[in-house]
Amino acid sequence: MKVLVATEKPFAKKAVDGIKNIFAEAGYEVVLLEKYTDKAELLAAVGDVDALIVRSDKVTKEVIDAAKQLKIVVRAGAGYDNVDLQAASANNVAVMNTPGQNSNAVAELALAMMIYMSRNQFTPGTGIELQGKTLGIHAYGNVGRLVGRKAKALGLNVIAYDPFITERVVFDNDGVEPVGSVEELYAASDFLSLHIPATEQTKKSINYKLLMSMPQGATLVNTARKEVIDEDGLKAALTERTDLKYITDIAPDATSELAELAGKRFFATPKKMGAETAEANINAGLAAARQIVGYLERGENRFQLNKKPCDCK
Ligand code: NAD
Repeated sequence: MKVLVATEKPFAKKAVDGIKNIFAEAGYEVVLLEKYTDKAELLAAVGDVDALIVRSDKVTKEVIDAAKQLKIVVRAGAGYDNVDLQAASANNVAVMNTPGQNSNAVAELALAMMIYMSRNQFTPGTGIELQGKTLGIHAYGNVGRLVGRKAKALGLNVIAYDPFITERVVFDNDGVEPVGSVEELYAASDFLSLHIPATEQTKKSINYKLLMSMPQGATLVNTARKEVIDEDGLKAALTERTDLKYITDIAPDATSELAELAGKRFFATPKKMGAETAEANINAGLAAARQIVGYLERGENRFQLNKKPCDCK
């Protein structure tokens, strides 16, 4: 079997060594395509591979069609909106992500972002403390839960909304209060930490009305995806409410406009850095390699995202 590791933003060396070891033990060949700048390089490299590991790299229909022997793509990370699931299913290619492997890195960044904004981006002036404030967690998945548990230790009152988690015990175990609607969540949150995936349902769902309902001095923290924000609504809310703040790990399309209109009430990391820790890199990379061997050797498909037969043709 031949595996391509295609990473515009490469894994740490330790992760690459670990990935190579896992495939060497399975008797697989590994090809690295790192820091490529042209899609043509990826199209050429996928031609004869059986498996593909990517990070935020775009696996479009064109890439899948060019990969004639491809059986599986693993996105080393949680969000998989960079992989064309429908095209993969149409070509009988299994798609997996590696949920949970970088959650701690993202959760730590979300909390760091709250402190950064509470202390005027580390510039002189009087800030506020997190203790005693209410943190709303929008989506209580792998990252949301870790943010919830850590925030409790910092003395925050934590509430959460996730319509797909029906067992109350999940929240109770963390001392977190579930609320019944997204409107209720935003209206009560001094800090709002976003962890929803980008789907047809969630795109542009964080809108003017929700933002305007937030308490005085509230901060929206986005370590999820830029697509879930209605940027026109965000611009209007930050213009009308000069107390609102927005910090994001995924630069908005309107970054320069937002920086101009909101000054120190806005910050975007220059490059997505939620999962950029040595630990997350290694965890996600190794998990991707193990999942490929598990699937090709034993048919293990626990993390397969397109299990249902495709009805796309
Ligand atoms: P996850 O799959 O473990 O959890 C997602 C949660 O969202 C689930 O609990 C699900 O029930 C909930 N959900 C889905 N649709 C919802 C909706 N409409 N309203 C409310 N809740 C909804 O994912 P995760 O590991 O917690 O990651 C969350 C998101 O964070 C990912 O989708 C990804 O886009 C993003 N992420 C960013 C980085 C980064 O580097 N900044 C790294 C990892 C993940």
